[in-house]
Amino acid sequence: MRRISAFVLALLLATTASSAGDELIRLTGQLDTLWGDSAPGSGQGYRRILQLTTDDGRRIEVELGDGLARLGGVARWNGTRVEASLSVGEDKASGRPRIVALRSVPGSSGETSLRGVSGSVPWVTIPCKFADVADEPRNFTFFDGMYANLPGGLDHYWREVSYGIIDVVGSMAIDWVTLPNNQTHYIQIPGEGCFGSPDQQADLSALFADCTAAADALVDFSGGGAPFEGINLMFNSDLDGCAWGGSRFATLDGVSKSWRTTWEPPWGYANEGVMGHEMGHGMGLPHSNNSDGDGSPYDSPWDVMSSATGYSVSDPVYGSLGKHTISYHKESLGWITPGEIFEAPAGISVITIDQLALASTGNYRMARIPFDGFSYYTVEVRDLVGGYDGALPGNAVIIHEVVPGRSEPAWVVDGDDPPANYADTEGVMWRVGETFLDLDREIQVRVLAATADGFQVEIASGAVVTEIFRDGFENGDLSSWN
Ligand SMILES: [Zn+2]
Repeated sequence: MRRISAFVLALLLATTASSAGDELIRLTGQLDTLWGDSAPGSGQGYRRILQLTTDDGRRIEVELGDGLARLGGVARWNGTRVEASLSVGEDKASGRPRIVALRSVPGSSGETSLRGVSGSVPWVTIPCKFADVADEPRNFTFFDGMYANLPGGLDHYWREVSYGIIDVVGSMAIDWVTLPNNQTHYIQIPGEGCFGSPDQQADLSALFADCTAAADALVDFSGGGAPFEGINLMFNSDLDGCAWGGSRFATLDGVSKSWRTTWEPPWGYANEGVMGHEMGHGMGLPHSNNSDGDGSPYDSPWDVMSSATGYSVSDPVYGSLGKHTISYHKESLGWITPGEIFEAPAGISVITIDQLALASTGNYRMARIPFDGFSYYTVEVRDLVGGYDGALPGNAVIIHEVVPGRSEPAWVVDGDDPPANYADTEGVMWRVGETFLDLDREIQVRVLAATADGFQVEIASGAVVTEIFRDGFENGDLSSWN
């Protein structure tokens, strides 16, 4: 780690030899985020890389300063061209340069921001074999069928999750191509590994470059004027223990942009929940978490971006399917419209929220209850319905605490003390008659009744919550407090 950070520092200093002594280095380029995920059930962790591809083609791993993190975090800047001011003093925790100021700047490739995703988002699947590994774990028919608009297919899945705002029409797969090098050429490079392993890290750049090059005769990445949005790289053997998803700035067939990209080992494409998770990272989504405070972001079964395959509907061909992602993530991508969000005012409100997998609703899809300026609770309803949410732990109101800027902004709220290790317990499922109370923040949510497609809830916010609590205490009526 020392050696790598010294190398990066040397790069930075070399760019500013004429201004030696300045504290900040200013660089222009494309900012991308990558997430490395350990296999479901492995008990291992994850890694997040924030990468600046400078205009002269260097890739530099960076960190985001705390202030910028609070102002929307990496999601706000992911996949965008920026002018970044980097602190030459290394980030104390990571040893990487730290971005202390950012602004978006226009690029020649037009709109490249990954914020908000709508319309057709075509992906291309490239199955790549290491030169020394002959296995073909799945065939062309499998990869091609994965994009179908049929139950279990990714086009069907993304349409349902986005309420028809996106699809993956135009996606395609090709048959296996072969990389020019052996497996160890791409994996055994010094580095931090995908979850801290000191001597095993996939060379994502080389894998991307060689796999897309091997497919170049078969794929027109420019799409004849309508370029692919995403690239699923399917490898025929393990990488560094992780599947990876995020965005990657590159020029392919004359198109320069951040390509939504996943790097999948065989266990990735064996379960479409993992594909959904990594493609979600490709759209800029972070993880969500439970509230147990451990280092794992894979312990909430309510989100494909947490426990990707836990409580999943099973498909005979495509394995554990993805479930929906949480309302916070859907809203961040523009899939929940402002009219479908109840922005809770101070006082007491009674509303109906429909379950999150419902195709259309005349009620609300979520409520948002602000506190501490930038933070808020989200209230959503989940039910065991449909082809993707059909195996969830229960039918209940689910509440998330959202703190922008932390690595998993949304943590599912658990009424039990201590919180469960895995958020499939009664403590996270708010049922009729139960009340969530955060007295410090003066926020209360009561589940009043079940409705046709969700629940009627009462939301109280502000001083009125303290009054309710005091009155209840004086009346000796605290029986309903969860
Ligand atoms: Zn992940």
